[in-house]
Amino acid sequence: MSFQVSGKVAVVTGGSSGIGLETVRLLLEQGAYVAWCGRDSGRLQDSWETMAACFESDRLYIQCCDVLNADAVKQFIEQVAQRFGGVDMLINNAGQGKVASFEDTSDEEWIREVQLKYFSVLNPVRAALPYLRQSSIASIANVNSLLAYKPEPHMMATSAARAGLLNLSKGLSKEFVAAGIRVNSILIGMVESGQWQRRYLDRSDPDQSWEDWLAGIARKRGIPMGRLGKPVEAARALVFLASPLSSYTTGSVIDVSGGFSQEI
Ligand code: NDP
Repeated sequence: MSFQVSGKVAVVTGGSSGIGLETVRLLLEQGAYVAWCGRDSGRLQDSWETMAACFESDRLYIQCCDVLNADAVKQFIEQVAQRFGGVDMLINNAGQGKVASFEDTSDEEWIREVQLKYFSVLNPVRAALPYLRQSSIASIANVNSLLAYKPEPHMMATSAARAGLLNLSKGLSKEFVAAGIRVNSILIGMVESGQWQRRYLDRSDPDQSWEDWLAGIARKRGIPMGRLGKPVEAARALVFLASPLSSYTTGSVIDVSGGFSQEI
């Protein structure tokens, strides 16, 4: 079945790695025009080259941009609209989590974490809103985490900020419904992407393979499906929510956690 996004324009924040990169790939496979950003120019260029090897380059657009810089985000979105003629789907994916307990989190780190989770969504939404209002399939899909429901003591600030983002997504869905803009989120558990690759580099046993290390985490954390998710598994849910396939869904969430949530 097609996602019905052929010829439509998608913006993916944090598209140079992990879940964002697989989302870019899937949207391109489905015939969309896709723009993505990231902060690191080398990684962004690499991702462009990977995609340009498989898809027509006139459907790709990249721009170095920190989603926390409102002016840069506005300029990025305006460039996208100028190049592709509008914005139909905004996928807010850029970010990372902070591993720290309450006692290990300073006030500055709290502020940084809350700012990241909120403004990584607020800035792109503000910038894309005029264009989304003009789209017949307008949607916003936010990457969120199961931590929003289920706080973990080793990720105190991230959990609290994720809960706020879930509330914000619901609020935006209510405000924008009259304008025909749907707003939804995915709640992910653990997905083997860039964040985990960086943690793997700091593993205690340098001889442990990536596969064994991941299997150990899945076992230790008790993920019912016995493994971490693949970035493409999160991407499929995101593209579904962003696409007209979910045209009667707003203010909603999809759990992509391998059964980790446990809640009914
Ligand atoms: P990756 O590190 O693989 O990808 C993160 C992407 O976001 C990169 O392209 C990165 O590029 C970009 N990015 C990060 N910060 C910014 C910023 N301020 N402005 C613009 N781009 C930025 O990690 P994931 O794919 O795992 O992360 C995707 C999302 O999923 C994140 O929001 C993360 O918090 C969330 N998440 C992931 C989980 C997991 O288990 N993987 C669990 C829960 C949530 P660059 O660094 O060059 O800017």
